[in-house]
Amino acid sequence: MLVDDFRSDTVTRPDAGMRSAMAAAEVGDAVYDDCPTTRRLEAIVAERLGKEAALFFPTGTQANLAGLMAHCGRGDEYLVGQMAHTYRLEGGGAAVLGSIQPQPLPNEPDGTIALDAIANAIKPNDFHFAVTRLLALENTFNGLVLPDAYLQAATELARSRGLATHLDGARLMNAAVASGRDAAWIAAQFDTVSLCLSKGLGAPVGSVLVGPRDFIEKSRRIRKMLGGGMRQTGVLAGAAIYALEHNVARLGDDHRRAADLATVLARYPELGAGPSRTNMVFMTPKGLDVSAFVAFLRGRGIAVGGRYGTLRWVTHLDVGDDAVERVAESCEVFFDTQTSPAGLRAQA
Ligand SMILES: *Cc1c(COP(=O)(O)O)cnc(C)c1O
Repeated sequence: MLVDDFRSDTVTRPDAGMRSAMAAAEVGDAVYDDCPTTRRLEAIVAERLGKEAALFFPTGTQANLAGLMAHCGRGDEYLVGQMAHTYRLEGGGAAVLGSIQPQPLPNEPDGTIALDAIANAIKPNDFHFAVTRLLALENTFNGLVLPDAYLQAATELARSRGLATHLDGARLMNAAVASGRDAAWIAAQFDTVSLCLSKGLGAPVGSVLVGPRDFIEKSRRIRKMLGGGMRQTGVLAGAAIYALEHNVARLGDDHRRAADLATVLARYPELGAGPSRTNMVFMTPKGLDVSAFVAFLRGRGIAVGGRYGTLRWVTHLDVGDDAVERVAESCEVFFDTQTSPAGLRAQA
């Protein structure tokens, strides 16, 4: 049985308070824009992020795709991090469904894209090139908070060259809580922002795209085309409003627990754990049978995420201090059996 699930902050389940907010939510047909709770959620998020309008989406992938498609036409290009979610982890949707050419650029170790890389990638006005329309950034990026000065400089550069700017803010609230910056200040650097409600905020489903009113109306048509026009979404919007009311400030607890977890994992150099980044800890084990370690944890009800050599721990609503303690105990037992004479005999 899985007790402590550190694979992602998407695994949270709605608690009793959220479920009663869902049960009580007034609903209507949201495709007709007739759902009062969905409209209220959109108004709350637009206000909170300081934008004119907002639109509710089933997923962050669809919110980002609709945003990219509203910014860029067929054959236009967007600048994006080589390791960014929109480029790498959304099935290539911008290219496949949007006919938008991605121009991926290297992500620096701090998650930024170098300003000169951005400047050099903006194509001159020459018919050989696709038209560069948009710069898309991500914050947090693999848990890293992009520096304030960088957000200002990168978006200012984009604007000065006539580009629009989009933020994949799936974990924007983590960035806001960790940096002490108002989410609206971060959002103000960008024309448009997507925010995920089903990550650390703990709602079961949903993302919101915010931006200027005409942009959001264009996105509404694209959402319909992509199959994201949902009907009585009030039950989901009710969960999301509850999440925004109860689960934003508490992200700080997740960040503290990630720091505690990083301290525990750092006791074992073989694990190759890095420092915590908001609610995440990454580790690249060396000289260790990783699958044996992962299976050992699974046997004790602990799940860790990640593939391809790097493991990822994510803290969230459903992992408390006791979960971190169980990881500490499990590591102690695992490394003890690995090094004790009895453990070595058992392995042989
Ligand atoms: C989760 C996530 C998304 C959206 O993912 P969905 O699973 O489609 O909701 C987008 N960007 C980032 C950075 C994410 O972590």
